[in-house]
Amino acid sequence: MTEKAKINLLGMTRQELTDFFAQRGEKPFRAVQVLKWIHQRDCTDFAAMTDLSKAVRGWLADEAEIRTPEIVLEQCAADGTYKWLLRLDDGNCIETVFIPEDGRGTLCVSSQVGCALDCSFCSTARQGFNRNLTSAEIIGQLQVARGRLQPEEGQSRVISNVVLMGMGEPLLNFEPVVAAVSLMVEDNAYGLSRRRVTVSTSGIIPAMDRLHETLHVALALSLHAPNDALRNELVPINRKYPLGPLMDACRRYVGKGGHHSRITMEYVMIDGVNDTPGHARELVRLLRDVPCKINLIPFNPFPDAGYRRSSEAALSRFRGILIQAGYTTITRRPRGDDIDAACGQLVGRVEDRTRRALRYARVPNASGVTPP
Ligand code: SAH
Repeated sequence: MTEKAKINLLGMTRQELTDFFAQRGEKPFRAVQVLKWIHQRDCTDFAAMTDLSKAVRGWLADEAEIRTPEIVLEQCAADGTYKWLLRLDDGNCIETVFIPEDGRGTLCVSSQVGCALDCSFCSTARQGFNRNLTSAEIIGQLQVARGRLQPEEGQSRVISNVVLMGMGEPLLNFEPVVAAVSLMVEDNAYGLSRRRVTVSTSGIIPAMDRLHETLHVALALSLHAPNDALRNELVPINRKYPLGPLMDACRRYVGKGGHHSRITMEYVMIDGVNDTPGHARELVRLLRDVPCKINLIPFNPFPDAGYRRSSEAALSRFRGILIQAGYTTITRRPRGDDIDAACGQLVGRVEDRTRRALRYARVPNASGVTPP
C-alpha cells in the first residue's frame, strides 16, 4: 500500500490551521498552540509538542508534517552577509540572503522559482521561470535562516526585517505571498511589525490595490526610470502598467495624506543609461505628489550583463538633485557581492520553462562575443 501524502502545516495561516483542526473536531486554540511550536520555537516534531494531548500528537504525526526546504549550500561574505541555496521538493533551487546591519538584520526572501518578467539588468531574469513558490516554501526560508543564525548577546532576534526582494515577482504569486506574509506579522507566529515586512514589486497595478485591501505592509516599487520610453526598455512590464497609472496606484496605496508609510522607490543606477542630471530632474517631476523615499542602488554586475555601475560622481550628482528637491534619498551599498548575494545577483538553479535562458545564451554580450 502506498503511503498517503502528508499535509505540510508549515505554510498554513492561523485561519487555515484553525479550519484544519475544526475539520477534525478540535478547538481553535489548537491552531495557536501549533503555530507557536512551529514559528516561535522552531519545533518540527509533533511528539515534542507537549501541550497537545497524546491522541492529537498521534494523529498529527500520521497525517501531517512540518517540512522546510533543504540547504544545499551556505555561503558567508566578508561583510557578514549570508546566502543559502535551498532545494525544493521538485529539485529546483532558490536563493535566500541575510544582511546584518547595525541594530537590525534583514532577510531577503524569494517568491518564485526564477522570474517571468524580463528586466534587462537583473540576473534572475536570465534564468527564466519555472513556477510560483508555495506559502510553505516562502515562510520556510525564514525558518531555515533562523535555524542557522544565532542572536548576539542582548539581541532578542536575529531577523528583524523581511524584504520580498529575492528571486521572482511577489505580486504575481499573490495568495501564497500573502499567506506567508500574514505568518510573518502574526503575533502567534513571527510577530514582526507590518512596517518591517516589505513587498517589492515591478508595478503590478491590480495586485498593488489588492494588497492594499488585504494586508497592508510596506511597499517598494522598482522604478528605475523616470519616463515610459526608458522604463519600457528596463522593466518591460511597464508596457502593460505604465507610469501614469502606476503613480496613481502608489498614491492609492499610501492613502490620502500619506497616513500609511511612504513607498520606497528603488532606482538602480546604471552608467549612462538612467543616471544623468536630466533623469534626476525628470524623476523629481514624476514623483512630485507621491509620498515616497528613494533608494538608489548602484548596479550590481553579473556575467554578460551588458551594463556598468554608475560612477561615484554620477551617483552623488543624482542624489544631490533629489535631496535638494526634498526627497529622502538613501544609497544602498552593495552587500555580499563577493558571494553574488547583492540585489539582482540571485540565480538559484532553475529548470527554465520559458526557454529564456536559452535565448540569452545565444545573444552576443556587450563585448560582441557569443558565449560557447
Ligand atoms: N520582482 C520584484 C522583486 C525582486 S528584485 C521587483 O521587481 O521589485 C529586488 C530589487 O533588486 C529590485 O529593485 C530590482 O530591480 C533590483 N535589481 C535587480 N537587478 C539588479 C542589479 N543587477 N543591480 C542592482 N539592483 C538590481
